[in-house]
Amino acid sequence: MTPFIGLTCGWQRKDETNRYYLNSNYVNAVVAAGGVPVLLPPLSKAYDPKRLGPLLDLLSGLLLTGGVDLDPVHYGEEPLPALGQIDPDRDRWELALAKWALVRGMPVLGICRGIQVLNVAAGGSLYQDVASQVQPPSSGTAVLHYQRAPEWYPTHAVQIYDGSRLREIFGCDCLRVNSFHHQAVKMPGRDMVVTARAADGVIEAIESAIHPFAVGVQWHPECMWEAEPIFLRLFSRLVEEAKAFSVRQARGGMPVSEALALGG
Ligand code: MN
Repeated sequence: MTPFIGLTCGWQRKDETNRYYLNSNYVNAVVAAGGVPVLLPPLSKAYDPKRLGPLLDLLSGLLLTGGVDLDPVHYGEEPLPALGQIDPDRDRWELALAKWALVRGMPVLGICRGIQVLNVAAGGSLYQDVASQVQPPSSGTAVLHYQRAPEWYPTHAVQIYDGSRLREIFGCDCLRVNSFHHQAVKMPGRDMVVTARAADGVIEAIESAIHPFAVGVQWHPECMWEAEPIFLRLFSRLVEEAKAFSVRQARGGMPVSEALALGG
């Protein structure tokens, strides 16, 4: 059976334009990997997000996509001057979805903002601004994390740690990746382990040590897989894990809508 993969999306509020949006690269990668993409719009606080519960019951996997900064209040910090745009409704919705996927054992892949949402949902924290907050170790060098090269082009290396799912997926200990982020994971959340770092020590990937498949990457594989097919493996693995999840669900499990608890 072809698994339904939920993709989160952004919300642009401007004068006359008021729309949800998602870069189609995410959708294309899920389709190329054999999944059925389902867009999950954040709802404003005026509506009860539990209304989307019946839609969530259909999902077998979750993709937390890239976007604007998380409000640092979610990891107990005041905003630094370099904090970018935030979206309170998207924060609330995605943190609830991520917590729910973690509790339920539903496969989840977080990309860019998505790794940050996954980490904060697990109780971890972020660097609000890598360039001003991260000092490279004496053995390392400063690294540019907001490239001006084309989006598909890898500009910095990441070391991938032995024994991680990421290592198993890519089959190598070093990858070159693209980089479009000014924030990054600071303290990994509960049961989250660091699985890749850049040369300046910045965390480029995490995964849960106890969940069947909860993986986050700081780079953008959805922009790279057409030029470098190895990056499709992340999406293919998400779809495989989603199939396995749906088999487990068919053998009995609580409807996801009943498990969805939204705070705030
Ligand atoms: Mn980077």
